[in-house]
Amino acid sequence: MKVLVAGGAGYIGSHCVKQLLAAGHEPVVLDNLVYGHRAAVAPAIRFHEVNLGDKAAIDRVLAAERPDVVMHFAAFAYVGESVTDPLKYYHNNVAATLNLLDSMLRHGVRKFVFSSTCATYGIPDRMPITEALLQRPINPYGQTKLDVENMLKSLAPATGLSFAAFRYFNAAGAAEDGSIGEDHTPESHLIPLAIGAAQGLRPELQIFGNDYPTPDGTCLRDYVHVDDLSRAHIAAFPLLETAGAQHFYNLGTGTPTSVLEVIQAVEKVSGLKVPAKFAPRRAGDPPALYADATKARTELGWTPRFQTIQPIVETAWRWHQAKPKGYGDR
Ligand code: UDP
Repeated sequence: MKVLVAGGAGYIGSHCVKQLLAAGHEPVVLDNLVYGHRAAVAPAIRFHEVNLGDKAAIDRVLAAERPDVVMHFAAFAYVGESVTDPLKYYHNNVAATLNLLDSMLRHGVRKFVFSSTCATYGIPDRMPITEALLQRPINPYGQTKLDVENMLKSLAPATGLSFAAFRYFNAAGAAEDGSIGEDHTPESHLIPLAIGAAQGLRPELQIFGNDYPTPDGTCLRDYVHVDDLSRAHIAAFPLLETAGAQHFYNLGTGTPTSVLEVIQAVEKVSGLKVPAKFAPRRAGDPPALYADATKARTELGWTPRFQTIQPIVETAWRWHQAKPKGYGDR
């Protein structure tokens, strides 16, 4: 399949591009490089430096490339910033996606894979989280992703658009060959911050809350390897052959892992101490979030190769050790 990957220079998008190539597909990347990295995409892959706010430019790319499928990873994903600057999130996550879908439909492209998030569930009533639980986001970031899910639900019956939307839990790790990895500016994610603190390249890690109703008092999350996420996306392609098909999947391993367990894994893998101190809870952090991903397993035949935190951290460590400054472009 020829696949246009919007946000293909970002963390998850770039790993997906690599997996697409490995699976024999033809990826083409569209990215505005605001958060993405040119070096995260192999030079041989066609690259369109385009902003999804620019309708004419999207039209030009779709007319020139005529992809079979569009995968959409291009979004802003800082929860805190979405609270203080919601317009930025509605512009970039909702309006820009509307531009992309509008142009796709006008160019006869009707297969879509969308990056959604477990943040659409807000603070769920039950754990683990199944796709059937009510979605009540507690911040604008989660709301913008839910808005797009709803847009897709409206478009499928009206236009024949077929789509798979994946609700990610905590994407983590790096390519197994160490070639690409996680490099956010600013960085807010636990694993890169813990590794950076161990390397002496970042400040002491703050553990946000140790009084949660969890076994060790720190938050439980479901860390899922970025290559496993990517493989699930590709496994959904056959489902998109049916016009108007709508699919929603949670992607997580289902293994709850605490902040302290992540720190222990980083110490074990690196042989270094992670300087860390307890700090107050971070606003908006639910105590526990982990997936029931049975649906993706049964319908897509998806089995995450990485089931536990330590091998995930090993891949992240390899990348950060090789590239302590990340891509070095910010
Ligand atoms: N966390 C932490 N210190 C940090 C960053 C994150 O204790 O400097 C915790 C955070 O409270 C959450 C977990 O680590 O429980 C994962 O946070 P991250 O920001 O990586 O992902 P999120 O779960 O917010 O999507």
